[in-house]
Amino acid sequence: MADVSALKEEVLETAKAGYREGLFKGTSGNLSARDRGSGLVVITPTSLPYDTMTLEDLVVMDREGRVVEGFRKPSSEWKMHARIYKEKEDVFSVFHTHSPYATAFAVLRQPVPPVLTEMIPFIGGDIPVAEFALPGTEELGLRVAEALRERGACLLANHGVVAVGSSVREAYLRAVYVEDASRIYHHALSVGTPCLVPEEAIRKIISPAVRG
Ligand SMILES: [Zn+2]
Repeated sequence: MADVSALKEEVLETAKAGYREGLFKGTSGNLSARDRGSGLVVITPTSLPYDTMTLEDLVVMDREGRVVEGFRKPSSEWKMHARIYKEKEDVFSVFHTHSPYATAFAVLRQPVPPVLTEMIPFIGGDIPVAEFALPGTEELGLRVAEALRERGACLLANHGVVAVGSSVREAYLRAVYVEDASRIYHHALSVGTPCLVPEEAIRKIISPAVRG
């Protein structure tokens, strides 16, 4: 079997960083990464605290979702992760959080519009809302993949956030950035009417990397 030990270390470190950053509380949230060669997916386990999580707690699954390494049960959202990888060949990491400012907009089912210039190269534009689907289902992954067509992150209606990337680091930075942009948009809304980044500027700074 392919050696995914480096990927496991990256997943563990980044999941702990996300917990410390406040992107999720308790045992909620989950992170996975896909090995480029073998297609194996390393994913965080279900219902386990992040501060004491070790490499042995991580679960490795094959393309069909069978556990091939680890004694824990995979995250309850493993079907969502698997479906996103199936739909999006350019995605190699999926980070699911419940970060509070972004999740507030997910509850309103309101996209975060492009109010910061950095949202354009980081996310691809606004932060859209994926249509509602039950947690733990493959359908949720399908709805997320639809919302992510030209974006690096989206909100999940009445639920939270998914950020994806070509690496664990990219998915993590996007998850952090989604929360940061949502917080700033929230503050701006509370004191006035936010202005959007002009369309022409969006066209000029759009990164080809997040398109398609
Ligand atoms: Zn969740």
